[in-house]
Amino acid sequence: MKIKVLEKGENKLVLDIDGINPAFANALRRVSMTEVPVMAVKYVDFVENDSVMFDEMLAQRIGLMPLKFKPGEFNFPEECECKGKGCPNCQVTLVLERVGPGTVYSGDFVSTHEDVVPLYDNIPLVKLGEDQKLKLEAVATLGRGLDHAKYRAAIVSYKYYPEITVDGRKLKDGEAKKIVKSCPPGVFEYDGKKPVVKNPEKCILCMECVEASEAVKVEPKDTRFIFQIESISALDPKYILNEALEILKRRAKELEDKL
Ligand SMILES: [Zn+2]
Repeated sequence: MKIKVLEKGENKLVLDIDGINPAFANALRRVSMTEVPVMAVKYVDFVENDSVMFDEMLAQRIGLMPLKFKPGEFNFPEECECKGKGCPNCQVTLVLERVGPGTVYSGDFVSTHEDVVPLYDNIPLVKLGEDQKLKLEAVATLGRGLDHAKYRAAIVSYKYYPEITVDGRKLKDGEAKKIVKSCPPGVFEYDGKKPVVKNPEKCILCMECVEASEAVKVEPKDTRFIFQIESISALDPKYILNEALEILKRRAKELEDKL
C-alpha cells in the first residue's frame, strides 16, 4: 500500500491511497463518519425562554454546535459506571443566561468543565428582543454519528484515482489546446506542443477531455483512491482516520477471538 498526502490543512486531509479495494475504502469512510466518538449537547433543560424560537428548535441548534473536548477523557453514558444516569465521567453541563436585546452566541455558554467548550464563539443561536430572557442548561455527552448527525466527526469521501494518458500519435492538429481548455478543474497543462497531465487528482471524471480528442484516455482505477477527510468536529482529521482504523482493527480482532 502506498500513501501520498495531497493536501493537509487544519480541518482537511486529502490522501492518495494506492493498493486497497472499494470495500475497504468504503468501510474506512463509514467508520470515520459514524463511529468515531464526538462530544455534543444531548439535551437541554430550559428554565426560561422568552425568545421567538421554540424550545425544541433552539435545542436542535445548540445540539449542532461543535464542542472542544479531549478524546478519551469521557465515557459513553451507556458504558459508564453510573449506568447512563449521568456523572462527571460521562457528561458536562454548559450554562447559558442572557437578557435581551441582542444576539445570543455559542460563546455565551459557560461550561462547568474547562476542556469542554464551544469550538467557535461566533455561532449565532437566537436573537433576543428588549427584556426577553433566556436561561438554560445544556448537557453534553459522547456519542456516535450513527445515532445522530450532531455526533458526526467528519465528512469523508473518496473517488477512484483516474489514470489519464494522452497518446501523442493520435493527437490531431489543434487538439492539444482544445484538450487543455475542455477540462473544467484544470488537469492538463500545455507545454507548447502537447497537453501534459499535471493535476490528475483534480479530475472529476467528467470525460470532457475524452470528448475533445480521441488521443485522451481516462481510466478510473479501483485499487487506488483519492480519500478526503474534512473534520466538522473539534478533532484533527488525522486523529479521526487513526481512530477509525483502530475501530476496524478492534472489530476484526473480536471476530477472530470469537472464531
Ligand atoms: Zn457516568
